Amino acid sequence: EQYLKRIEQLNAKINAYITVTAEQALAAAERADQQLAAGTAGPLTGIPIAHKDIFCTNGVKTSCGSRMLDNFVAPYNATVVERLQAAGMPMLGKTNMDEFAMGSSNETSFFGPVHNPWDLERVPGGSSGGSAAAVAAGLCVAATGTDTGGSIRQPAAFCGVTGIKPTYGRCSRWGMIAFASSLDQAGVFARSAADAALVLQAMAGFDERDSTSAKEPVPDYAAQLEDSIAGLKIGLPKEYFGEGLDPGVAASIEAAIKEYEALGASVREISLPNAPLSVPVYYVVAPAECSSNLARFDGVRYGHRCEAPKDLEDLYKRSRAEGFGPEVKRRIMIGTYVLSAGYYDAYYLKAQQLRHLISDDFSHAFEQVDVIMGPTTPSTAFALGAKSNDPVAMYLNDIYTIATNLAGLPGLSIPVAPADGMPVGLQLIGDVFQEGRLLNIAHRLQ
Ligand code: GLN
Repeated sequence: EQYLKRIEQLNAKINAYITVTAEQALAAAERADQQLAAGTAGPLTGIPIAHKDIFCTNGVKTSCGSRMLDNFVAPYNATVVERLQAAGMPMLGKTNMDEFAMGSSNETSFFGPVHNPWDLERVPGGSSGGSAAAVAAGLCVAATGTDTGGSIRQPAAFCGVTGIKPTYGRCSRWGMIAFASSLDQAGVFARSAADAALVLQAMAGFDERDSTSAKEPVPDYAAQLEDSIAGLKIGLPKEYFGEGLDPGVAASIEAAIKEYEALGASVREISLPNAPLSVPVYYVVAPAECSSNLARFDGVRYGHRCEAPKDLEDLYKRSRAEGFGPEVKRRIMIGTYVLSAGYYDAYYLKAQQLRHLISDDFSHAFEQVDVIMGPTTPSTAFALGAKSNDPVAMYLNDIYTIATNLAGLPGLSIPVAPADGMPVGLQLIGDVFQEGRLLNIAHRLQ
């Protein structure tokens, strides 16, 4: 009730929720009360959560931030939603996001931008900006998000909360609307690594309905939180500290790394020589996959359908023209272009080759160090409208987060000392399936 009241008071200003499911949340809270009374409650029983509107939720609108799905009520729950519900977490509602998760500022949403709770004139980051802002403003305890190129870590950094993107395949993608299937991964926003550990524990693990989900067992993340980090080898990639990094952000990151040294960690410089290519590689691979994934939105089976189509072609053309916003259209056009005969070798194949090199850089780095650290973003949250007419400036915001997705590795962002009153995120990158260690390292600083 307290969270619902807060949403009622603040959501008009922040716009973090697209849909609030008050009745369902209260009914779930009642069931949680009964479990508490019966002594059958788990650690998450009755703890309210919000889900990014990219996850299908049975009987509840699942818009993906798009006009295309403004009328779509999902007939089933995503695996992640199902598991968190089974853990007893009442769902407060569905959070705002960039349209089809394409964006870094939440300004491409059909439902209007989300406002950063720290400064309402600034963006919360994207694409999971609604989830990050909801956690930061106390409109839920934790929230789910997805990260294809930074969409959990970047908004976590901008809103001053903890966000973890697990290893590719750690969480099921079943029922999570696809953007770029080889990069998409579900994760968590919370106010601390300790909270995130509990939520990730409940949602991770193999799912036979997602052929890319990993058969790897899920360790007890909470049990690892207090482990010592004495002797931890931290690598600082020189490519993450060069030109373009805001000096205020750099100072906060350096101060946090000093704290790790005080806790017994050692630091060395490493190199990820192909990391600067990650933005151009991503903007070939991700649009290519999106152009294929979004072909299903044709106005026939579900989603937006234009009025009075003349014939089938008119139905497709106008439904898609009306249903998708400009950024989604741009990506579909880039994607179909790079996949077309004559350009495939020059762009798509080349990008796949470079993706391997980027991934190899990380493998070499993890032969020398246990964890990689650096800034999550080059700057703090920027002003609403500042980059919305300049796609390349917007894309460059993800310069430090994208390589992790291309390599399928886990990444986490935690708040460190603010710069000019705005939150700064420290990024931790681990080797595959090292989310437990990342949460432990993050927890030791909190
Ligand atoms: N900002 C990146 C993009 O626009 C990443 C988005 C994401 O991780 N979903 O594609």
